[in-house]
Amino acid sequence: MLSTDTPAARLAAVREKLGRAARAAGRAPEAIELIAISKTHAAEEILPLIEAGQTSFGENRVQEAQGKWRDLKAAHPAVRLHLVGQLQSNKADDAVLLFDAIHSLDRPSLADALAKAIAKADRHPVLFVQVNIGEEAQKGGCAIADLPGLLAHCRGIDLAVAGLMCVPPADTEAAPYFALLAKLARDHGLDQLSMGMSGDYETATMLGATCVRVGTALFGARP
Ligand SMILES: *Cc1c(COP(=O)(O)O)cnc(C)c1O
Repeated sequence: MLSTDTPAARLAAVREKLGRAARAAGRAPEAIELIAISKTHAAEEILPLIEAGQTSFGENRVQEAQGKWRDLKAAHPAVRLHLVGQLQSNKADDAVLLFDAIHSLDRPSLADALAKAIAKADRHPVLFVQVNIGEEAQKGGCAIADLPGLLAHCRGIDLAVAGLMCVPPADTEAAPYFALLAKLARDHGLDQLSMGMSGDYETATMLGATCVRVGTALFGARP
């Protein structure tokens, strides 16, 4: 019998809940990409998920991801790697070479650096603009008021933005923030939404997430 506390069993449980939330909202479960957030977890913990069929993974630090994923990605070419943490402009080249999606574009100077890195590498990661949806002083992401200007800047330099990403304030009901992010995306004609983590990925799915970022529910608590 399958133990319920293996990585593969946790993956199956998350997929099941995600599917149920999608169907409840009249959406196809395949329309939502489950990103396994593997930050702080070692390759030995990641491998069982790859072997269970998981292909999308997320990290929040360029350097940590480089160390961990160079070999893993070479051995498992179907893996798609997402950067979900803040990015310094001087790491844009490294990020564009390693990641298939970047969820933390939040300022014009970073847009410029990414555009340059993309042209140089001829690699085109899917880009999300991170919005500071709860207007929290310490949080990453562009202010809601600055979003139109940032998107216009990206259009001006021919940098394709696929969607919006947010991390709502901790310990509050996330639904209103997800709904606001979905509205902002609609207003700007963007169709991808990166929202929802271990505690609220079902809510995010019902409110239109096209990718959810789940760490703890798959890997257990981080050290
Ligand atoms: C760590 C992290 C996650 C995953 O959070 P869990 O609560 O462990 O699922 C999702 N998104 C971002 C941006 C993160 O940094």
